Amino acid sequence: MVNKKYLFKYLIDKLYEKNYLNLDELVFILDNVHIYGREYLMEKADETRRRYYGRKVYLRGLIEVSNYCRRQCKYCGINALNKKVHRYRLTKEEILRRCQVGYELGFRTFVLQGGEDSYYSDNFLVDLIGEIKDRYKDAALTLSLGERSYESYKSLYMAGADRYLLRHETINRELFEEIHINSNYDERIEALWNLKEIGYQVGAGFMVGIPKQTKEDLARDLLFLKELEPEMVGIGPFIPHRDTIYRDERPGTLEDTITLLALTRLFLPKALIPATTALASIHPHGRELGLRAGANVVMPNLSPPDVRKDYSLYDGKVSTGYEAAEFRKELEESIGRIGYAVDMSRGDYIEWERAL
Ligand code: SF4
Repeated sequence: MVNKKYLFKYLIDKLYEKNYLNLDELVFILDNVHIYGREYLMEKADETRRRYYGRKVYLRGLIEVSNYCRRQCKYCGINALNKKVHRYRLTKEEILRRCQVGYELGFRTFVLQGGEDSYYSDNFLVDLIGEIKDRYKDAALTLSLGERSYESYKSLYMAGADRYLLRHETINRELFEEIHINSNYDERIEALWNLKEIGYQVGAGFMVGIPKQTKEDLARDLLFLKELEPEMVGIGPFIPHRDTIYRDERPGTLEDTITLLALTRLFLPKALIPATTALASIHPHGRELGLRAGANVVMPNLSPPDVRKDYSLYDGKVSTGYEAAEFRKELEESIGRIGYAVDMSRGDYIEWERAL
């Protein structure tokens, strides 16, 4: 008879040493973590992060450029079918103004995030990226604008974009197809590999607690990440939005999200992992717990204050207080109080930095 408590600890130690577990081992961890010790898992994840990044937490200024989107993701509050959304998009000048505000606040990474909005053509973006990189030579630029063609990704990279975030959301094909009305599973995965091939620092990631998602699905998400080896990983809880068909579903839990975050840190020790706004939105200490579980990035909101409420991906999204870029100093202090230190540099993936 196997002693489950012993096996749990043995597997966490094995993951800590080898940065890998197989599917059955992972499912065992996910089935038993609430009994035998999330704290131990978090401790090992934190140790792993400290080995590579010390106590540093990198800040990125997040500019939500548009809430227009051609996609119909069932879980998302700004999906194309939601007629209640007050839509907006920022002009080139407005985006540049927010970059300037962010730069003056000390940010050295700008993340331009938005729905899949055809207004942002390659020409528009190439021009914008060129201007940002020209004005802020010591800053990194991350894009998070959904799926685009290989050629489009390539031209934006050539224009100077450094990183690209594109969450795969779930590696279970059936589940992916269930929650995405007009997206194609193969195209999403191919887009991630294209970004890698082009040379971006790539961010993948998934949601925790999607209706019908199983522990095996989550274990497979981790195994997919191990194969892709993204430089960044975004993991957030599923949170229902009142104007979607998932409005009455149960949200993903803080505990499960923290567990997956810690496992991701152990699988990909050098990854840049944000303590997401979604995590901060489901629990008052969500961000701190995320950092303690191995996250090392926070992305305060740098969008124009008057549009923040309209970028409503899920209910209860926080865009004020510590989640707002204007509160950088206060955020820095709160991160300091839990034993970490804000680092305002570009905060590149370490191997990429060495290759420069
Ligand atoms: S999740 Fe992204 S791609 Fe899907 S509808 Fe929302 S903004 Fe658009």
